[in-house]
Amino acid sequence: MALHDPNETVLAHVRGQHRLFIDNEWHDAASGKTFEVRNPATGEVVAHVAEGEAQDIDRAVQAARRAFDERRWHGLPPEKRANIMWKLAELFERDARTIAEIEVIDNGMPIAFAEWMVGSVVQGLKYYAGMITKLGGRNASPAIASDTLKMHAYTSVEPVGVVGTIIPWNGPIGVMMIKLSPALAAGCSVVVKPAELTPLSALYAANLMVEAGIPAGVVNIVPGFGATAGQALVDHPEVDKISFTGSTATGKKIVQSAAETLKRVTLELGGKSPVIVFDDADPEVTIPGAAMGIFANTGQVCFAGSRLFVQKKSYDKVVAGISDFAKGLRIGHGFDPANAIGPLISEGQRDKVSRYLETGVQEGAEVVTGGSAVDSQGYYIEPTVFANVNADMRIVREEIFGPVLVATPVDDIDDLVRAANDTRYGLGAGIYTTDVNKAHLTAARLQAGNVWINGYGMMHPAMPFGGYKESGWGRENAEDGIRAYQETKSVFVYLKG
Ligand code: NAD
Repeated sequence: MALHDPNETVLAHVRGQHRLFIDNEWHDAASGKTFEVRNPATGEVVAHVAEGEAQDIDRAVQAARRAFDERRWHGLPPEKRANIMWKLAELFERDARTIAEIEVIDNGMPIAFAEWMVGSVVQGLKYYAGMITKLGGRNASPAIASDTLKMHAYTSVEPVGVVGTIIPWNGPIGVMMIKLSPALAAGCSVVVKPAELTPLSALYAANLMVEAGIPAGVVNIVPGFGATAGQALVDHPEVDKISFTGSTATGKKIVQSAAETLKRVTLELGGKSPVIVFDDADPEVTIPGAAMGIFANTGQVCFAGSRLFVQKKSYDKVVAGISDFAKGLRIGHGFDPANAIGPLISEGQRDKVSRYLETGVQEGAEVVTGGSAVDSQGYYIEPTVFANVNADMRIVREEIFGPVLVATPVDDIDDLVRAANDTRYGLGAGIYTTDVNKAHLTAARLQAGNVWINGYGMMHPAMPFGGYKESGWGRENAEDGIRAYQETKSVFVYLKG
């Protein structure tokens, strides 16, 4: 197989018809409209996808509502639902390479990154399949009842109802499934609005939902644009909850719109995550860890470690080490396993990141390595390290969502913590040190939902994931993750006698 030739199933899917998935059937958009999807590695149009709008969202929500009200999913025996979810995990495992290749074509990410992401989907589905048979409420009678007040009181957890999920383009199948797995485990029905730039893996997964035996209407997938399809989902009165991943600006809009119907809302938003390197850090661990903390997926990771703070004594060595590492990263098409850096998602994103590179130079920052777009048909940008920055520069304060690191020397632990927390975001934070006391004391002082020590970006379905401050509301994964899709009911019973 030539390097850039995906497998036949992938080609058949990408070149096939892409319609809306509602009630386990395929539909054209009510308007008949379609939109183009491009491969960011080449800029070529690879697919045309039905463009869902308000009318289509309404149709999908009605289907989800019927499925929920008729208890087609949450009325099934828990063991049966667990088996179906486990089967779905096995289907993702069976088709892992195909799904990963679809992501490479649609998003541009390196194949190894795509395979890791599909692996995490399998892991999450199995984790939540196992949780279905362990759900339960609480018997509160001991805290309430007595010989004079005879009472039985308990709580039960119930699915929140119809969930609208809105997905970004940077980790299409991973983000869709980090929402869908707990939502399904909780017993909800779901309408998914994939990102307009990357709808192809979600539509492939629809077939797996049918094959696994998920009843009609429980999962519906409506590609379309944010201002139309996304907004219609947020506004729809029959949607009980919105689970959103995307930019902080859109998250704020969603909160305002959702307030009209007081929907439950959870948000996974942007970041400008700090990475702290102490003098005693092990360079063999720190250099690749900090470099890939920002450059993985071309910096298009919500928790990318984009602000580097290094204790003064090691500063020059660490910055030089990361810059050398960056120079060694091969840029190119995601199908070549030797390439570590894929394209940015779109021409628009490439131009936005390029503008930040210019802004950085205008603001007086020094380019240590990189600093330019790559002259090519695809949307590539060199991994870039800026030094000589200050805390007020736009490249230090704003989320760039590209392979751009800003480095600052810092004195001691107090300065490191102050500088790290000097942001409106609070998603991730990295610490590199060989001193276990320093590691934990620093972790305790960082305002971030996820702290990684001597590594970066580890995730696991058993560990909650989410942000402080403007990085979000709520948590995904673990028990917190399923609670985001549940209501709690308190039941009191007076007992006679
Ligand atoms: P975006 O906010 O532009 O779009 C995200 C999704 O929201 C898309 O599906 C889009 O169509 C939809 N949307 C846009 N406007 C909408 C509206 N008014 N109503 C409803 N839906 C709307 O974000 P993006 O550019 O696709 O993604 C990049 C951003 O996502 C970055 O800021 C990144 O940090 C963030 N992100 C966060 C996490 C996390 O877990 N915290 C994960 C991945 C990405």
